[in-house]
Amino acid sequence: MSPDKLVRPEVLGMSAYHVPDAAGMVKLDAMENPYPLPEPLRRELAQVLARVAINRYPEPNPRRLCELIQRKMNVPQGMEVLLGNGSDELIQILAMALAREGATMMYPSPTFVVYGMCATFTRMRAAPVPLRDDFSLDADAFIARMRAEQPALVFLAYPNNPTGVLYPEADVLRIIEAAPGAVVLDEAYHVFARRTFMGALPRHRNLIVLRTVSKLGLAGIRLGYLAAHPAWVRELNKVRPPYNVSALTEAAAIFMLEHLDVLEAQAADIRAERAHLGKALQALPGVTVFPSEANFFLVRVPDASRAYEGLRRQGVLVRSLHPGIANGLRLTVGTPDENRILITALKEALQ
Ligand code: PMP
Repeated sequence: MSPDKLVRPEVLGMSAYHVPDAAGMVKLDAMENPYPLPEPLRRELAQVLARVAINRYPEPNPRRLCELIQRKMNVPQGMEVLLGNGSDELIQILAMALAREGATMMYPSPTFVVYGMCATFTRMRAAPVPLRDDFSLDADAFIARMRAEQPALVFLAYPNNPTGVLYPEADVLRIIEAAPGAVVLDEAYHVFARRTFMGALPRHRNLIVLRTVSKLGLAGIRLGYLAAHPAWVRELNKVRPPYNVSALTEAAAIFMLEHLDVLEAQAADIRAERAHLGKALQALPGVTVFPSEANFFLVRVPDASRAYEGLRRQGVLVRSLHPGIANGLRLTVGTPDENRILITALKEALQ
């Protein structure tokens, strides 16, 4: 029997999350921190990892890592933390836990594609609410749709991917207060926006703050976390696969959180570079740059497919969002050198 007779039709109709080969390229497609760890830290980390007992299963409930996250990431007293194999896995866990018969997932659109994918996997009804043409959020329209659709689960990426827009705090608060179900504030880019709803958790029982260490400089270890009222963590923890955080990830994360200042200094450099890159992009004729509070820019060019190919030929990998966002390209902020290469190559590609 062939898979196409057995696999669910909605899965047959999907395509896998596309990750192009980046070997030898200036990699500006995935919002990674472009800076490697300083050499002395790498050596220390190697020693830490060498001591991990990889013949044993990892901690089933990595309490030490959770406590460290609570302390370093200012999780309010009384709230709890759940860890995931990347925040991708936590999005899936949230959908699995809340996918009652007929339940709806709502999010502004365009946004991070994994929300919609997880709705499909779990047979939640997806209700994307269009953003305005400038990718700002019409909070009144969103709240009206919530009244009509009664979503069990709302995802707000704060700031949003792939647009970089940070919705006004007051609008987000109104949505949290008007929501009939859970609201997940996905703060994947919080080190670049330096805005958070973490402190609001004790006041809103329906609020869940989702984070990742990926954009901070640890995309390779695959670690995400969420913070919420203990009642949420208790239920979501039942859906979490056992041992979902590897012993190597746990050890690396504990080590790196003790050296968080290094990653935060890198994030500060990226924020400064974002300002330079934004100005340089704005100076290019025919390029519309959307303001960004994240470590990437959404730009609109006259012909995104041509620009993407032109950049690729010159060894620069970015993300094309066309046709979902007409003629949209998403450009990650790289090192000063990488950004210079990007600007030169983009000039050439636009000719
Ligand atoms: N949320 C948002 C808004 C993202 O942009 C991303 C990654 N692109 C993620 C979550 C997932 O991050 P990770 O699985 O690496 O933690």
